[in-house]
Amino acid sequence: MTVLIVGAGPTGLTLACDLARRGVPCRVIDRAAELFPGSRAKGLQPRTLEVFDDLGVIDAVRAAGAPFPGFRLYAGHEVVWERSLYDLLGAPPLEPGPATPYPDPWLIPQWRTDRILAERFAELGGTVEFGTELTGLAQDGAGVTAATSRGPIRADYLVGCDGGRSSVRKLLGVGFEGDTFETERTLIGDVRADGLDGVFCHMFSQAGDVTKRVSLWNLPDSPYHQFVASMAADEVPELTLDGIRGLLRERSGRTDIRLHDLRWISLYRLNVRLVQRYRTDRVLLAGDAAHVHSSASGQGLNTSVQDAYNLGWKLASVVGGAPDTLLATYEAERLPVAAGEFDLPVHRVAGRGAYAGLDTGAGTFALVRPDGHLGALSTSAAAIRGYLAQAGPPAR
Ligand SMILES: Cc1cc2nc3c(=O)[nH]c(=O)nc-3n(C[C@H](O)[C@H](O)[C@H](O)COP(=O)(O)OP(=O)(O)OC[C@H]3O[C@@H](n4cnc5c(N)ncnc54)[C@H](O)[C@@H]3O)c2cc1C
Repeated sequence: MTVLIVGAGPTGLTLACDLARRGVPCRVIDRAAELFPGSRAKGLQPRTLEVFDDLGVIDAVRAAGAPFPGFRLYAGHEVVWERSLYDLLGAPPLEPGPATPYPDPWLIPQWRTDRILAERFAELGGTVEFGTELTGLAQDGAGVTAATSRGPIRADYLVGCDGGRSSVRKLLGVGFEGDTFETERTLIGDVRADGLDGVFCHMFSQAGDVTKRVSLWNLPDSPYHQFVASMAADEVPELTLDGIRGLLRERSGRTDIRLHDLRWISLYRLNVRLVQRYRTDRVLLAGDAAHVHSSASGQGLNTSVQDAYNLGWKLASVVGGAPDTLLATYEAERLPVAAGEFDLPVHRVAGRGAYAGLDTGAGTFALVRPDGHLGALSTSAAAIRGYLAQAGPPAR
């Protein structure tokens, strides 16, 4: 086996499709019994749509999704405003063109995206091996031996696409620097809702206060709505249908909207973390295994799919005889993208030739490596000073 992919989320499945269509033998294992059932990351950005076009799934993605609906804010029963995504962004819509063939962000629940990618992988001859957990790994000059719940697997390369709590990352001992914001939580679930009028992101509040809202998003081609509400950590209701019914009543003052048939619910903690390195010899990390973000604006899934797309052709080329140094460009190109999503002006200190501490001015502090890439990120200046003390003298 040439490449072992651990994790059948959007990252692992994108990589699997890309390798399979290039004729590179790969196996995909996932410890879950099936694909993830929730709608969690539901917004695809233009570049991700281009990637999906190249992988041959754009028609399926467009058939199962829709442009973002309008946003409608209520104060109780009264509609306060209705605005399009472009009104909210303060930018006009783009016309499709050669540079941006799919300019509109596309709404599609993640469970559909994952399923479409898995179906494409199957068309290309692949199978996801569910119920197979990675439990250990060892590598030598010639390959990687993975220990799994169904026995060992030997591969030339292993790619950890196993999400934010990545076993691969932990087994490698690679650091995941950043912060978990403990004071706030976001509750996300898929539920059916009766009594809503029109296709919108319905934002309910008592008095037009958007900070105390419950949003119900119509999910395209599905009878479900995505329920989203943020709150202080000590205000989280029970993660049950009754819990979210109570929250909707409390925040909207309304009793005419009937929630039922809750099929998935989760509590999301805001984590902002970036891996120390993307590659350890023959083992690479991609997607949430390498970086986790705020759920706002769909950074997680989109950055993850684009990691896999950056890595796919490089891995295929190296397997086919290209110099191994090509793989070094994966981290060089993708780490700054993930770091950029944390608003870090990494380029400002690039090329200084020594470790540097940087106050980003946004309440975070960064350790920048001699090559200009981000080495660590923290809300604590003291933590960054600690890293600097270990890493060598600062450049400034
Ligand atoms: C509750 C929740 C809500 C979210 N909401 C949003 C949102 O609103 N917007 C947004 O942009 N992003 C959101 N995200 C993030 C988005 O879902 C992720 O960025 C995206 O799924 C990353 O894809 P991935 O393939 O890297 O990882 P994942 O989708 O997490 O897939 C990892 C896979 O690896 C498997 N795995 C893990 N460990 C092992 C192991 N040891 N052996 C074998 N398999 C293993 C898992 O079973 C899983 O299938 C949310 C995430 C969560 C958890």
